[in-house]
Amino acid sequence: MGTKSGNKEIPAFAGIQNYINGKFIPPIANAWLDNYNPANGEVYGRIPNSSKEDVENAYIAAKSAFPSWSQTTLDERSRILIRISELLEANLQQFAEAESKDNGKPISLAKAVDIPRAASNFRFFGNAITQFASESHESVGQDAINYTLRQPIGVVGCISPWNLPLYLFTWKIAPALAAGNCVVAKPSEVTPMTAYLLGDICNEAGLPKGVLNIVHGLGGSTGQAIIEHPNIKAISFTGGTTTGAHIAKVAAPMFKKLSLELGGKNPNIIFADCDYDDMLETTVRSSFANQGQICLCGSRIFVEAAIYEKFKRDFVTKIQALKVGHPSEATTNIGALVSKPHLEKVMEYIQIAKDENGKILCGGNKVTVAGYENGYYLEPTVIEVPHDECRVNQEEIFGPVVTIMPFETEDAVLQMANKVKYGLSATLWTNNLKRTMRLSNELQAGIVWVNTWMMRDLRTPFGGVKASGVGREGGYEALRFFTEAKNVCIKY
Ligand code: NAD
Repeated sequence: MGTKSGNKEIPAFAGIQNYINGKFIPPIANAWLDNYNPANGEVYGRIPNSSKEDVENAYIAAKSAFPSWSQTTLDERSRILIRISELLEANLQQFAEAESKDNGKPISLAKAVDIPRAASNFRFFGNAITQFASESHESVGQDAINYTLRQPIGVVGCISPWNLPLYLFTWKIAPALAAGNCVVAKPSEVTPMTAYLLGDICNEAGLPKGVLNIVHGLGGSTGQAIIEHPNIKAISFTGGTTTGAHIAKVAAPMFKKLSLELGGKNPNIIFADCDYDDMLETTVRSSFANQGQICLCGSRIFVEAAIYEKFKRDFVTKIQALKVGHPSEATTNIGALVSKPHLEKVMEYIQIAKDENGKILCGGNKVTVAGYENGYYLEPTVIEVPHDECRVNQEEIFGPVVTIMPFETEDAVLQMANKVKYGLSATLWTNNLKRTMRLSNELQAGIVWVNTWMMRDLRTPFGGVKASGVGREGGYEALRFFTEAKNVCIKY
């Protein structure tokens, strides 16, 4: 029996199944994994531990659906995607509850950001595909016309992480479907619930069976079967850098198309001439939103020496006022970390910081939330580092931990900002135009935010450089990724 919440059922223990060919089915080998609730550390469900055979079934369903789906008119595809978006919005509360329970994030965040964004992903690509036209041009003086077809690839694989579960899952699926592909998708095994609920929404919206197939399971087996499948021709992946490198290696001999959105260690650079109050508020968010578990979090804060001491005082005061608590409470700012192993990993980094002579300005300890003593809670932690090459300043921690240090000159901070293996995003706080232009050009990142953070227009390209990834998502970049360009030249 599931717990009824709104009009969608949130399944209990035996609830989650694979979604293949429009139906919910158990894994062939009847193998299951426990699903934990991070807020109390208890097992609250189980999910399929899918095998290669399950992935093959998903592939067969997708392959059968492809001839028809790829020929469906753009208007019809658009209509179905927008219907999915509407149904997600209509079921906001239930999806937000499920996301919060699975991931540990405050329900307020799931309701304000994660689920609305998942709905926007379908609406955006449902609209964008109707504008995404083939190009054509005449060959001047050669009596010929060239046109370029944008054709769907076929069956594609989408693999996503646990930090923004439905948000990132749909960020891949929506453009893949809009472009006429059929999909075999795997959400993170740590946060499977909203992906499972999405299947029902797709059926209700009239998505033909087999167009989207969702298999649950571990990365090393279920995910591996997707990336190794010789006929899944493209892989869109978001996750860790090590996994991304592994996928690239497996995919290379099969010449699969790859989009890899990987880790980050993003600088937040604060100059004395910025709008201080705005910067301070936003820096609290860019440091600790979603328990710091966003690839875009500004986890390395560099502050111009002239305002360093003031910033340190004000920032720590603000952080100490954040409430760590149960994700379902409206007043909670910081919920639970996603899993016990992840909490342990973050704690290890706090120890590493101490061993490297980092000074813990606030936080650093596990939190016991009354009534939920086994939940994975951690104080938001600010570490003042003695130099920028400390491990905690170089390695992705992906938790509620930021480092801070002062800088003297623009050149010095630019060097430090770029001296990491990652290059996902950078944030810059200044009102100096020349400095803005210079640093925006020089920062090694796929996204530079100036006087803001995580402001996203879905038409703009999204992705990283260096170890943060290969390729871009968003807008037409995603539709280009999920299509093959074919040039046709006709002499007349
Ligand atoms: P992860 O790499 O462990 O797992 C991501 C997904 O890949 C999961 O679904 C997992 O099951 C699957 N997977 C693991 N091994 C696989 C394999 N061998 N073959 C196929 N699939 C496999 O990452 P995570 O811990 O879930 O997520 C955290 C990471 O994701 C962080 O590094 C974070 O920075 C990154 N991330 C990046 C972005 C971005 O847009 N660049 C966004 C969010 C998260």
